[in-house]
Amino acid sequence: MPHTSSVPLPWRLKKHRYGLVGTTCNYCHSVYFPPRFFCPVCQKKDGIKERKLTGSGEILSFTTINAAPKGFENQTPYTIAAIKLDDGPIITAQIVETPKKISIGKQVSTVFRKIHEDGHAGLITYGLKFKINK
Ligand SMILES: [Zn+2]
Repeated sequence: MPHTSSVPLPWRLKKHRYGLVGTTCNYCHSVYFPPRFFCPVCQKKDGIKERKLTGSGEILSFTTINAAPKGFENQTPYTIAAIKLDDGPIITAQIVETPKKISIGKQVSTVFRKIHEDGHAGLITYGLKFKINK
């Protein structure tokens, strides 16, 4: 019978989401974010270990959102970018600067910011966004 953790999923993923913790493979040194517990390159899972990512990278592409989904209306316009992390993985995340200041090739690093506010329940979600390096 496979081992299953009794800790709820959002709680287990908290470290990964807030701390930018990915995984790396001891055999081929591939780095994964979000974390993977099986290496698709080596077809192995016994070499996977956690790795804290540097949180810095470069903007590969970006798009500015003017029509936001429910709950994000008061944040428009905001920009979502594909970021190639220095560690290797490419992730998508929000850039905190105004769209005018954002361009491809800019170096960015993580900041901890409010992601979403549920006005009705007063629930505020925090997470990582990126800012342009000065
Ligand atoms: Zn591997």
